[in-house]
Amino acid sequence: MTYLFNNSKIRSKINIVVLGRMKKEIFKLLVFITISALLTSRVYAGLDKKHNIAGLVYWHGDISQPKIALTFDDGPNEPYTSEILDILKKYNVKATFFLLGKNVERYPDTARRIVEEGHAIGNHTYDHPYLLIQSKSHIKYELEKAEQVIFKATNTKPYLFRPPYGVNDSWIYHAVKEKGYVTIEWSVTSHNGGKEISPDRIVRNVLGEVKNGAIVLLHDGDRLIKGANRSHVVKALTPIIESLQQRGYQFVTVPQLLGIEND
Ligand SMILES: [Zn+2]
Repeated sequence: MTYLFNNSKIRSKINIVVLGRMKKEIFKLLVFITISALLTSRVYAGLDKKHNIAGLVYWHGDISQPKIALTFDDGPNEPYTSEILDILKKYNVKATFFLLGKNVERYPDTARRIVEEGHAIGNHTYDHPYLLIQSKSHIKYELEKAEQVIFKATNTKPYLFRPPYGVNDSWIYHAVKEKGYVTIEWSVTSHNGGKEISPDRIVRNVLGEVKNGAIVLLHDGDRLIKGANRSHVVKALTPIIESLQQRGYQFVTVPQLLGIEND
């Protein structure tokens, strides 16, 4: 009996130690789950990548109409932006350029030419930060600073916004909304963000994915890299335009595609 008694005493002591450890582990797990939930709540909260959110975030236009919007990010970036403008002029195609404030400071005349030739422009921030790690006030600062620079060069206040790297979450969403912007994502990408791929691959990537109402992402610049080589995009543009025109698509600006023109 004594042996059993002692044994059960030891057991209960062990149980207390084990339970104590388990409680600690459970506590750690709960802390981990809470922190993870807080962090992920910044990502895509309230947003659905598959569908347009009327008036605020768009990935595409009317899928019943054979209309397409070509968009160019990270410019102006010379000589490539001017070469793209020459091709668009030749084919009488209107496109949309999401401008970086800092690059507009470098090439104000190109920014002005974009507007003068009937293309739409959008705000792509001042210096292309990764917005998911920025405060709401810094996100607003990026929008305001780029807006001032773009207005100075083009006499136009943009109302379209494309977040760098396409990232979005509830903080960005609300900052952009409060500044009166509409966010434009894309449904088709050339997959040449931040890198050079061959003109053939750019053409294949775009033509393979295009559908009615597509918003096509291309790049005339590469973040803040001055003179970043975009010759492959320039070379790909003519076959893209010719093939899509042959398929019966009409090229329009993003505001025209979405019926949100500001007159
Ligand atoms: Zn960009």
